[in-house]
Amino acid sequence: AQKSIAGVPGGIERTFIAVKPDGTQRFLIGEIIKRFETKGYKLVAIKAIVPSRTLAEKHYEDLKGRPFFNGLVKYMTSGAAPVIAMVWEGKDVIRQGRRLIGATNPLEAQPGTIRGDFCISVGRNIIHGSDSFESAEKEIGLWFGKSEVIEWEFGNAEWVTADN
Ligand code: UDP
Ligand code: MG
Repeated sequence: AQKSIAGVPGGIERTFIAVKPDGTQRFLIGEIIKRFETKGYKLVAIKAIVPSRTLAEKHYEDLKGRPFFNGLVKYMTSGAAPVIAMVWEGKDVIRQGRRLIGATNPLEAQPGTIRGDFCISVGRNIIHGSDSFESAEKEIGLWFGKSEVIEWEFGNAEWVTADN
């Protein structure tokens, strides 16, 4: 089977992570990258981008019809600050990424998670992460071209990934 853009489900996966405009405004880009980087995940794509309305609406198409949808798209696309779009790769990174991020409502997010530590409002929850393999596949394809996702190896992979 051909390897998908999101990797191998249950194996070495890729997930789409984005610092939202409020995270960028609040100087949290470095902190968010640090959480994934020091956990042991590999950054394979990154760019600053002000998404078009079309892109934001496609990204959140499952939420069309929800009362917050228009506000959500406006917040993501305003250009008051860019979205920092990223692809992170590694073992179980889709599910683990969601754990690092914490609950959608920051007031329910555990301390120690990104939302639990840095925000208080569901409408300004600073970060996005794919919620499933299918979402990761869709979102990476939406935000990045194939040539923007870089394959590279850790020089110290043995120290990060060995199961003995
Ligand atoms: N959102 C909102 N109000 C709500 C619920 C969600 O503004 O009542 C926004 C919020 O930015 C959230 C995004 O919509 O992160 C997507 O919602 P989803 O349920 O997919 O949460 P997530 O996957 O981001 O945790
Ligand atoms: Mg979601």
